[in-house]
Amino acid sequence: MERLKPYLHQRPKLLIVDDQPLNIRLLHELFRNDCDVYMATSGEQALTMSRDLAPDLILLDVIMADMDGHEVCKRLKATAETSQIPVIFVTGKDHEDDETIGFELGAVDYIRKPFHSVVVRARVMNHLKLKLQSDVLREMAMLDGLTGIPNRRSFDERFESIRAHALREQRPLSLLMIDVDYFKKYNDHYGHLRGDQCLRDVAQALNDNVRRPHDLVGRFGGEEFAVLLPDTDETGALTVAEQLQMAIAQLDIEHRASDVADRVSLSIGAATRLPTSTASLEQHLHWADEQLYRAKSEGRNRTCIQRYGA
Ligand SMILES: [Mg+2]
Repeated sequence: MERLKPYLHQRPKLLIVDDQPLNIRLLHELFRNDCDVYMATSGEQALTMSRDLAPDLILLDVIMADMDGHEVCKRLKATAETSQIPVIFVTGKDHEDDETIGFELGAVDYIRKPFHSVVVRARVMNHLKLKLQSDVLREMAMLDGLTGIPNRRSFDERFESIRAHALREQRPLSLLMIDVDYFKKYNDHYGHLRGDQCLRDVAQALNDNVRRPHDLVGRFGGEEFAVLLPDTDETGALTVAEQLQMAIAQLDIEHRASDVADRVSLSIGAATRLPTSTASLEQHLHWADEQLYRAKSEGRNRTCIQRYGA
């Protein structure tokens, strides 16, 4: 699925920061075959490039004219977007204390000048490997194993920033809770392998039909899915719900054991609210869940929505 990025097959991005062009040239030569190498010759430039490029690793010279490497590292670690980027300090041989200070500032390693190319390469490549592996693990922890779409944890992670944005802009937030109708009967009738395939097909169809970059589709477990739609009012939420119902109908998956249709269908509960600083994700889920319950008790294969303040 397109959301799972193949990090391990991507060329790593390495940022080299040094005020001596000769040092940069030496390091560039060492890594240009394995990495996309970027270069900065001042602290300010390093900070800007770190924010814009999100490098996988930074090689940071300690002694620089305007802002020294320690100060650059401090600022990187104090900024949310750059705090996770591993930093390796590059220090002169006569500055023993720099190593201690560097580790205290959160560096993962240090390299002494003059460079020993084999050692420098081994250290940098090891740290890059660790960085890319931890990216993969972090990404996997946010995805549902069966379907490859985001999981519940992913909603928890994303909700705060989505709510903060909606609160600032005073824009409504919609949430859909989705259930595959009579899925237990589907499993009993067709077996678990077909059941798993059905869930994967449904997940793919939901994912393909929710297209705005900040919308979030996820699997909450079993046959339950959720869709978070920032900046979306009731009309928008209903439109998305209808599109999803239609997309599942077009999958045309036979379901002889269903009591409402001969094909796989969905029940959807939708809730739209202006976010408040106190309403948690749980609260929004609860509102949508009430509507899902209603959709089920009114006969399934339908969408029910709760209006503002109703
Ligand atoms: Mg220097």
